[in-house]
Amino acid sequence: MTEPTSLPLALVTGGSRGIGAAICRELAAAGHPILLNYRSQDAAAEAVKAEIEAAGGSCRLLKFDVADRPAVLAALAELEREGTHVGVLVNNAGIAKDESFPAMSWEAWTSVTRLTLDGFFNVTQPLVMPMVRKRWGRIINVASVSGVIGNRGQVNYSAAKAGLIGATKALAQEVAKRGVTVNAIAPGLVETDMIGDAPVDLILKHIPMRRMGTVDEVASLVRWLASEHAGYVTGQAIVMAGGLG
Ligand code: NAP
Repeated sequence: MTEPTSLPLALVTGGSRGIGAAICRELAAAGHPILLNYRSQDAAAEAVKAEIEAAGGSCRLLKFDVADRPAVLAALAELEREGTHVGVLVNNAGIAKDESFPAMSWEAWTSVTRLTLDGFFNVTQPLVMPMVRKRWGRIINVASVSGVIGNRGQVNYSAAKAGLIGATKALAQEVAKRGVTVNAIAPGLVETDMIGDAPVDLILKHIPMRRMGTVDEVASLVRWLASEHAGYVTGQAIVMAGGLG
């Protein structure tokens, strides 16, 4: 099957840094115009946009907090008013607030679960019907291997990512007949700002490949899932974790 000559617009949440920035660069290199969402770091977002444009791609910034429902709905309504159709949605924005469960604060629980699950709902729901009407769409959710096998110190994050995988599988069934695929990627440890001061050497001992994943490895899987080649793959959570999971 051939790729369409003009590829659909891709909205990537949390596209200004780490995995999301690599996804923006990779989808732009494939030929998708990019809508890069981010929450706070203007300079980081501008830098990714400049890089994409220097390479001949197209990138527009869209600043909102995915957990802020009125802000998301206002931004997406504006896109609709101007007739902008999102064909590929990558729900990538995420945070971790690791604490052992007995010591976990309510704030750590609610901020992580709300960003992940409310963020998915807020951004995805307004965009899914237009995809259904066009009989084509790709929704790719960046979960985590923690949502598949659990991880100590991450009860909040594991619950949120497992919930995101459940949402992926259920929504995939609702829209499969309409040409819209919904998949999740469950990366293991990937070298980004998010891992902060995690004890990497200790964690690597539990990873069969004994190395971290790269943002480009995750991005290349997103590129494939967004393409025509992946048209018969839906409702899957693809673990990319060096042998974990
Ligand atoms: P990162 O380097 O910390 O980058 C996070 C990105 O998300 C930034 O662009 C940030 O924008 C944005 N963001 C954060 N909160 C947001 C919000 N409420 N609304 C909109 N954007 C928001 O993180 P990462 O490591 O690339 O992680 C990306 C995704 O991969 C996350 O879903 C994470 O859970 C998942 N993941 C990461 C790993 C890993 O080891 N790194 C492993 C498995 C899964 P601002 O800077 O503007 O706030």
